[in-house]
Amino acid sequence: MEHPENSEEYKGLTVNSGVQQPSIVNPYLQRGRFARRRLTAADYVEGILHGDVSILGQAVTLVESTVPEHQAIAQEVIERCLPHSGQSIRIGISGVPGAGKSTSIDEFGIHVLQRTGGKLAVLAIDPSSEKTKGSILGDKTRMEKLSVHPDSFIRPSPSAGSLGGVARKTRETIILCEAAGFDKIFVETVGVGQSETACHSMVDFFLLIQLAGTGDELQGIKRGIMEMADGIVINKCDGENVEPCQLAARQFRNALHLFPMPESGWLPKVLCYSGFYGLGITEVWDMIYEYMDFVKKNGYFEYRRAQQAKYWMYESINEQLRNSFYHHPTISTLLPQAEQSVLAGQQTSFIAAKRLLDTYFELKGIK
Ligand code: GDP
Repeated sequence: MEHPENSEEYKGLTVNSGVQQPSIVNPYLQRGRFARRRLTAADYVEGILHGDVSILGQAVTLVESTVPEHQAIAQEVIERCLPHSGQSIRIGISGVPGAGKSTSIDEFGIHVLQRTGGKLAVLAIDPSSEKTKGSILGDKTRMEKLSVHPDSFIRPSPSAGSLGGVARKTRETIILCEAAGFDKIFVETVGVGQSETACHSMVDFFLLIQLAGTGDELQGIKRGIMEMADGIVINKCDGENVEPCQLAARQFRNALHLFPMPESGWLPKVLCYSGFYGLGITEVWDMIYEYMDFVKKNGYFEYRRAQQAKYWMYESINEQLRNSFYHHPTISTLLPQAEQSVLAGQQTSFIAAKRLLDTYFELKGIK
């Protein structure tokens, strides 16, 4: 079967709708009924609420767009989808490149779809993707089974902007996916820096994929990332690697005991599995479902989501203030001069910042 993205009809989507072609990887997707004209916010909302993945893909493209006109529609669509969102489990999956994230997500995804039915969306936060042209989820063939599954939607990381911007867009995409009936959301992130914090701030369960065999498992991993994990899983527990994995698991368990008890009251578990051979996948998901039951009963599930909403309110304020400042035409012409004078030692950074901010406040009529 010809992949729909290659067909002339599919390519026509871009031309006819006036919206950038969504990078949807599921060949089951059909061109939506609204594709021939520019969509209004109401069209997007209607399409999303009907579970139309083609419209969903276009709405996500809109969310990712930096064009102010697109942003305005996107915000309206998000607002109208918000009451229909929230009914899902959101799982963050993190690990260094090569840890086996995509292999595992493929297996995990098929497992949960078989186990509980429903629909799965796989999203990504990858602030490096602009430089590396997408180190995660960029290559559509990396999730062979999910990418052709009728109930999955895979969306690579937005490739532009700061970590905060990329993460916000992923969070807004979660809302749209949930409104479209996706009741399982995976957020993949590369385990190399701050993207874990962003990922942690939008998921219900944060799963850290680790590898064994280096003998210094605990050295390479930042304490902060480990403290965020609700579960640590050692991948590639197959063949000759079984024993090293079990040893690594014991080391992680010991290390976790040294941390203070997490707010959730849940002591993170450490399990071994093999994503490639599909071993131990059920146990990983038993753990995740056990956690969900636990935090839904003790109230932490709701508490964590409320805290996340608060976090994102401040994040949005910060991002909008930053944008307003840096994109102000006067400020953007003054910035290079200020930078030069700081570099040349003619002004201290503090004074330069204060002058620019004073100018900005004056221009905005803020005293
Ligand atoms: P990612 O960069 O974290 O997404 O990692 P990938 O899923 O692309 O996997 C990196 C490499 O590890 C690939 O060559 C996989 O075939 C291999 N790999 C992934 N999972 C397993 C596993 O469970 N066992 C073994 N032996 N290899 C695996």
